[in-house]
Amino acid sequence: MAGENRVFTASIEQARSSASRLGGGAVMGDKKIKAVAIRGTGDVFLARPEEFMKELQGVTDYINFRNTNPIKDVMTIMSGIGSPQEMLHTDEKWHTENFAWGNARTRRRDFWTDEIDASWTKSQHGAVKRLISCFNCPQHCGALISHKDTPRYMAKCFGKLTYAMAAYVDDLDFSWKILQRATEYGVDSFSTPQILAFAVELYEAGILTDKDLPGCPKDNEGRFFWLLDRVVRREGIGDILADGVYFAARKIGNGAEAFDHNTIKKHEQLPVKLGTLDPLYFLMYATNEKISITQMEGQWPQSAFPTMEQREEFVRDWPQIPDEKFKQYVLDWELRGEKAIPYYPTPPMCSEIVDWMEMMHNIDDAAGMCCGMSSFCLKPPYHIHNYPKLISAATGMDLDEAGLKKIANRSRNLHRAYNNRKGIRRKDEKPPADHWKRRFPELEEELLSTYYKYKGWNDDGIPTREKLEELDLGYVADDLEKRGILKNGKN
Ligand code: SF4
Repeated sequence: MAGENRVFTASIEQARSSASRLGGGAVMGDKKIKAVAIRGTGDVFLARPEEFMKELQGVTDYINFRNTNPIKDVMTIMSGIGSPQEMLHTDEKWHTENFAWGNARTRRRDFWTDEIDASWTKSQHGAVKRLISCFNCPQHCGALISHKDTPRYMAKCFGKLTYAMAAYVDDLDFSWKILQRATEYGVDSFSTPQILAFAVELYEAGILTDKDLPGCPKDNEGRFFWLLDRVVRREGIGDILADGVYFAARKIGNGAEAFDHNTIKKHEQLPVKLGTLDPLYFLMYATNEKISITQMEGQWPQSAFPTMEQREEFVRDWPQIPDEKFKQYVLDWELRGEKAIPYYPTPPMCSEIVDWMEMMHNIDDAAGMCCGMSSFCLKPPYHIHNYPKLISAATGMDLDEAGLKKIANRSRNLHRAYNNRKGIRRKDEKPPADHWKRRFPELEEELLSTYYKYKGWNDDGIPTREKLEELDLGYVADDLEKRGILKNGKN
């Protein structure tokens, strides 16, 4: 229903997964496409099947190894492979206490009490009927959910937390109930709860009134359901909210813009707020073409390891990196002091690391690979060294690492040039104003400039003619020049 009504956070759902962020469902709805059904009856042809199966055996062996040997000294959720195993794990102390959720600006440091632990664990064990996988995958990232009398549905990833934390409802039963309705409607579980929380904030601030929310229940749970129903149908205030926080804030006016503090590039809602600026995340948030951070981060540890022993242990077994020097970056990275965030990794190092992560996401997208098996994980089974062999054996393409990197780079620069044509410039490349409490404007500018230079882009974030020609995309440079976006190939 959300897609048909072109809700900006409409998702594309299928039985065991969903394409959720950034409103793919709205595009289908706009084109009046209800569903895409594919039935394959032919054989699958591989160019060099023996070679392909040999490579795949290596991948399978690694998956089995990782499943029985989780990465040490990182959060449980980061220690394995696949989508975050949120349907399996019940301990949410770290996720609920370490940052502000939803559209909120407050961090609930003492949220995870013994009572919450007991009641959430019971609720999850009651709701999860069994863990399920995507077709032919051993990872079981999702779960078949049925909470009391709700119809069965599939859930995975962080939806279990996003609605509860955004609504300030401390009962996990609420999550299972609202997720069922949200899945039926087809909306993204990251941005949608924040749109609802934004409406509640406006109501509490007196910017929206009972006239805007006629008949809306007063309790936290009830009003989230009420608002969700209206957003997906575009009824009343729901019609304004369905365009997302950025546009809704400007339409509502009367100070509502100040509550739009969590949006990137007018569309995506970040799920959390944090303390000190992280230079890698700054670059990923600011410059990613897809906006959504979950489609960008992954292979780099989320924070420095406290001891040298832990760092040495982490880098010892790390074949996924594109360059050995990354190991030294991890060894030198401290929790505090000069070699800590926000100044370390340095801007040139951050550019290299971000370039690697975005490259892997680009390859996954083009290959149709689940990023839970590749770019979204620490130490995944598919990486830059085995990918070319697998693609080559499957398709017959003569492909080595340099060739694959060039293809990914062409894709990245084409996306960028397209977005430049649509108007994206340096001024748009910034995370939400208060995503981090402590910001460093000069460093942020340096990070952007260094990254642009590394990518072969000009100071406004536009690929230069030289870069585009290097990638056999001279015709794109011609187009950008014709439109006055590039001048003299550079500025
Ligand atoms: S790893 Fe990916 S393909 Fe496998 S079950 Fe998890 S989400 Fe599905």
